[in-house]
Amino acid sequence: MRDRAYIPCDACGSADSMYLVKLVDGELAFCGHHYNKNKAGLDKVAYEVIELNKVEEEVPQLETAE
Ligand SMILES: [Zn+2]
Repeated sequence: MRDRAYIPCDACGSADSMYLVKLVDGELAFCGHHYNKNKAGLDKVAYEVIELNKVEEEVPQLETAE
C-alpha cells in the first residue's frame, strides 16, 4: 500500500522515483538509476535530496511499567 503519490522519474518518466532533489528553483524526481547517473551534477545544484522510499526505522517503544 502506498502512502504517497506516484512520482515518475523526470529523466525516464517510467520508473517510480526514489529520490526527490530539491533545487533553489524547483525540484526534480529521479529513479535510482538516473539519480546515480546525474549525481555528480546534482550535488552541485541541489540543496536537499530526499529519499522517497527510505524505510523509517521503527523506534523501539520503551516499555512502561504498570
Ligand atoms: Zn529514470
